[in-house]
Amino acid sequence: MNPSEPIDAGDFATWLSQMQGVLRGATAGTDVPCGDCVGCCSSRWPVALRAEDAALVPLVPAWLLQEPEDAPEGVRYMGYREDGTCPLLVKRQCRVYPQRPQTCRDFDCRIFTAAGMASAGADKPLLDKRLQAWRFRHASAADAAVHEAIQAAAAFLQGAAREVPGFHFPAAPIAIAGLALKAHTAFLDGKAAGLSAAELARAVVDAARTFGAIESLPA
Ligand code: SF4
Repeated sequence: MNPSEPIDAGDFATWLSQMQGVLRGATAGTDVPCGDCVGCCSSRWPVALRAEDAALVPLVPAWLLQEPEDAPEGVRYMGYREDGTCPLLVKRQCRVYPQRPQTCRDFDCRIFTAAGMASAGADKPLLDKRLQAWRFRHASAADAAVHEAIQAAAAFLQGAAREVPGFHFPAAPIAIAGLALKAHTAFLDGKAAGLSAAELARAVVDAARTFGAIESLPA
């Protein structure tokens, strides 16, 4: 793949605040400046359709509608065409964009860029090109330090964390990036320095739990 032309990803702290809201279920998606990119709609990803997306179900070809036994109650999955595209993508446009599934509203490929990851997974060339092109702006050294902590968390989750007995961290790139955002505080302000991999793994779990606990606090 040719190197990508840089694309402005926006102010990092502003984006992070919005993305953390999405991860807590408190914000209904971010506003991604997709331009003409259809990377996430062409990446061989089944899209979860929740109960609130029921109006879209009749638009999906029956053979691409999946209802796995272990799916959460009320959730179906919309498969993809042979070429990896979503069945609702027509002429590079989402035919239901204003009513697109919440799954699509929540997805923001800048999360991979924030985590310093060059790929969203196997066989996703359009998406990988885009996430390699994004460039965040940092308004302060403190913002840059937070970004570095997220990248350190993602690097740990992709490397040393996998060897720590008793911990089962996610392997999917999107889950790694999400966990890195949630648990990056374990890597801030030099907290990770001198810790063993096992101690860091525990710190990551604790930080992620703290992140999750915040969602239950009153606004
Ligand atoms: S429903 Fe629309 S936004 Fe979601 S993957 Fe399909 S084409 Fe893309």
